[in-house]
Amino acid sequence: MDISIIIPAYNEKQNIKILYQKILKVLASYKKDYEIIFIDDGSTDGTFEAIDELCNLDKKVKGIQLRRNFGKSVALNIGFKESQGDIVFTIDADLQDDPEEIPKFIEKIEEGWDMVSGWKQKRKDSIEKRLASKLFNKVVSKASGLKLHDFNCGFKAYRKELLRVVNIYGELHRFIPIIAHSYGFKVSEISIKHHKRQSGQSKFGTSRY
Ligand code: UDP
Ligand code: MG
Repeated sequence: MDISIIIPAYNEKQNIKILYQKILKVLASYKKDYEIIFIDDGSTDGTFEAIDELCNLDKKVKGIQLRRNFGKSVALNIGFKESQGDIVFTIDADLQDDPEEIPKFIEKIEEGWDMVSGWKQKRKDSIEKRLASKLFNKVVSKASGLKLHDFNCGFKAYRKELLRVVNIYGELHRFIPIIAHSYGFKVSEISIKHHKRQSGQSKFGTSRY
């Protein structure tokens, strides 16, 4: 298997099919073999039914349902364990990331990098989120010696060998680049487009927007 795309989804019912179609548009023109793995992280809005519908239509789609909400790191970790691709992507389900950028990541990995992280250069999030993120990125860059602008971007690509070595727990998905870097893997960053979040749950799980 050449490519695995892992998508953690918590209450993203309306976004599942749209994201699938966007990914398909990009991967259909590729000669590469791929799988798309959706992980429903205990959604209550029918997200899994939307995933299940796609699984019935397309054998390249796999769906995993978690019995309750465990958080994004756990969902990603389960996706990593299930994935069979030589290059493993993570993409958020909320349509903030653009699958059209997948080829750019593949090019970079083929150049010899072990991990490529997206950098939301023009970020479409609230000012509070942007400021908190800026501070986080500055502090973590300084403390770790790995200079990235955006540790928190959901859009990343990994060589599968790296994922065999780096295990993540709790909120640790933010630190995969640092752990990978400390193990001697080559970590790079590319600038990507960023869109407004489409429906689904808010960060605090209380409202929809
Ligand atoms: N997500 C998840 N479990 C959670 C919270 C979020 O699987 O408990 C998913 C969510 O559906 C989305 C991705 O993780 O696909 C990123 O979530 P969010 O947009 O809230 O994070 P941000 O964009 O602020 O980093
Ligand atoms: Mg988001």
